Amino acid sequence: MTTKRVRSAPGDPRGGAPTIRRPSPLALLAACAAVAVAFAPVPAAAQQDDSIETEIVREGSVYMLVGRGGNVGLSIGEDGAFLVDDKFAPLTDEIRAAVAAFTDDEVEFVVNTHWHGDHVGGNENFGEAGSLIVAHENVRKRMNPRAFRDLVGRSEQAPDAALPVVTFTDAVTFHWNGDDIRAFHVEHAHTDGDAIIHFPENDVLHMGDTFFNGTYPFIDVESGGSIDGMVTAARRALDLAGPNTRIIPGHGPLSDADGLRAYHRMLRSVRRRVQALIDEGRSLEEVVDSAPTASFDAEWGGSDFMPPDRFACLVYRGMVEEERMTPCPGAEGP
Ligand SMILES: [Zn+2]
Repeated sequence: MTTKRVRSAPGDPRGGAPTIRRPSPLALLAACAAVAVAFAPVPAAAQQDDSIETEIVREGSVYMLVGRGGNVGLSIGEDGAFLVDDKFAPLTDEIRAAVAAFTDDEVEFVVNTHWHGDHVGGNENFGEAGSLIVAHENVRKRMNPRAFRDLVGRSEQAPDAALPVVTFTDAVTFHWNGDDIRAFHVEHAHTDGDAIIHFPENDVLHMGDTFFNGTYPFIDVESGGSIDGMVTAARRALDLAGPNTRIIPGHGPLSDADGLRAYHRMLRSVRRRVQALIDEGRSLEEVVDSAPTASFDAEWGGSDFMPPDRFACLVYRGMVEEERMTPCPGAEGP
């Protein structure tokens, strides 16, 4: 591989260095999610661990690459390597090394679950090396404000090689490595360009950031996300899941249908409580003060990046159009 200049991850104008407040997994997760949205000044990057671990999802065919940034899905087989997401640009060599444990070939496809920099940061490197990058059309739009300025507002222009070259609106299927890998769009969930990737033969789902396993999820309301879409995304994935399904979340450990069901229940309950408060005419501040997540906080509220009050605020904002752009307590950036 030729040596390349490390560029900013799309959506991260500061050079791809996330804020790491303390070296716990939750903080790392938070920082990786925050990097896509936070525009606040950031101190010099702490020592970053760019190592990657390969976890077996289905022996011989599907793996999960874990490390800084969103979880990567890897399909291996006679047709060639297929990636779901590619973390940050500085981790490309580690991702390549993980793939090289299975095949000498370059990665043939990269499918992006959404546009955030901790999921598409390696696109430029893989695109320049010849991988075909595929994503929902809104991923390309948000990474390419030069062409879609009126639709974007606040994302950085990604290098041409980082942009998806194939986009879809509803779904696309890859007949690849003995599976019929289907990427399907879920509307207004974590963003307005999310895709869930289903490997039906392997009974595996990659949910991107529509699923944060173990913490309240970030909902990027400014990018068209909403709690309603998050609930629907989890429901659609559950409809495809059985007792043996393995589910790769965007962040957090590998999960299954029971784990996703608990997450879906939490999302639905919080949504219902916030709706009841809205129906009573409560303001954003009053909704947050009434702690609508309280009974779930012990299980889901431990993230520095997504504490209960911030999550409640994002839920509310996704439900009340006039509040969509109102900053949330503790939030960095707009
Ligand atoms: Zn994200």
